[in-house]
Amino acid sequence: MIISVASGKGGTGKTTVATNLALSVKSQVQLLDCDVEEPNAHLFIHPVFEKSEAITTPVPQVDENKCTVCGNCAEICEFKAIVVMGEVLVEVMPEWKEKFLELYDRIQEQVSNRQEHPS
Ligand code: SF4
Repeated sequence: MIISVASGKGGTGKTTVATNLALSVKSQVQLLDCDVEEPNAHLFIHPVFEKSEAITTPVPQVDENKCTVCGNCAEICEFKAIVVMGEVLVEVMPEWKEKFLELYDRIQEQVSNRQEHPS
């Protein structure tokens, strides 16, 4: 028998339900934690891992020295994770939040400079 515990939203108790189901079964059971962002069922059941393998996701980085802010990447990004704000390219993926904030500060500085020195 295969039982899947799924939800489109985080924090709904999927791991709690799945681990308690697994622990309540008296016969041999396999628990597969397929959470791609935060697999943490192991915190509840403390398994002995026989093997581990690092899984990574390539994340593109914009070379700001070469970027012409043409906006092509923003147009083709199917996740809409890149936006062009004026003359600044902004990656809005959560893991790039720090860079976004840095760029935001730069934008604010540019706006301030233009207000002080209008052309
Ligand atoms: S806006 Fe995007 S596609 Fe255009 S040069 Fe910059 S990184 Fe490349």
